[in-house]
Amino acid sequence: MIDSSILKLPSPVQQLTSPFLKQHNINLFIKRDDLIHPEISGNKWRKLKYNLLAAQQQNKKTLLTFGGAYSNHIHATAAAGKHFNFKTIGIIRGEEYNPLNPTLQDVHNWGMQLDYVSRKKYKQKNTDSFINDLKNKYGDFYLIPEGGNNKLALKGCAEIIEELENDFDTICVDCGTGATLAGMITGINYTTQLLGFAVLKDADFLYQDINQLLNNRNNIANNWSINLDFYFGGFAKTSPLLFEFIQSFKKQYNIQLDPVYTGKMFYGIFELIKQGYFKTSSKILVIHTGGLQGLRGYKEYNG
Ligand SMILES: *Cc1c(COP(=O)(O)O)cnc(C)c1O
Repeated sequence: MIDSSILKLPSPVQQLTSPFLKQHNINLFIKRDDLIHPEISGNKWRKLKYNLLAAQQQNKKTLLTFGGAYSNHIHATAAAGKHFNFKTIGIIRGEEYNPLNPTLQDVHNWGMQLDYVSRKKYKQKNTDSFINDLKNKYGDFYLIPEGGNNKLALKGCAEIIEELENDFDTICVDCGTGATLAGMITGINYTTQLLGFAVLKDADFLYQDINQLLNNRNNIANNWSINLDFYFGGFAKTSPLLFEFIQSFKKQYNIQLDPVYTGKMFYGIFELIKQGYFKTSSKILVIHTGGLQGLRGYKEYNG
């Protein structure tokens, strides 16, 4: 049974205040999807929700999914398995970790069975032959793609928008694969601008990928765009400047960001505010997509 009483939904919206925001006459709000659950946090819950319901409906006992060794999605899936009584199998890209890193240690503790595959083999994870091999090895399972990204994920991410009680001029979200943004696009009205922030280098492929995810739908809003400028060297790459920003953000607003996703997005938003990108007295909502478990992979946070 999916007992949603353990989840903080709808996730709270808070206003951020500071001399900086006041000086630039910006009304900045944050939707705290990081608070949905301490272990099944952020957009990974949004993507899992309808997949878990489908798995339950289909009477599946096991969830199988894919990810890297620090993956927030692997972490959230293992936690969901623990809380909602699914067996979980994680197909992990690359070499076996011994000892386990903090992410894998958690998922192991929560009962996820780990199966490491070479990077080369991992690339074939969406092929029929690879999936048939997994079925032969593990028996029946409910398959969740890497990152949780499928049609049901979009439906869950649309609820980020559907939960809102107020209108905003701009809503910001960070983009890895863009699936979260795609889901939000399906829920948006035409008076709000959706602004994605890419956390990878050379991320203009996101436009094509998002359009593909939205394929065959009518009445899709085109009032969305993606800022490609604040990727800080590439996916999961960081810099002292980024860590400084995350620390000062925490001091000012008492909210923790992570260096892979939310830190880059907020850095970008603050730069755009300084540049006068948003019209004066704009109402901006930023989605805190969670991912704070990933902080433990950075020595800057381990002393
Ligand atoms: C996975 C993740 C994202 C990226 O979501 P996409 O749907 O792949 O764009 C953003 N923020 C956090 C914290 C994540 O874990």
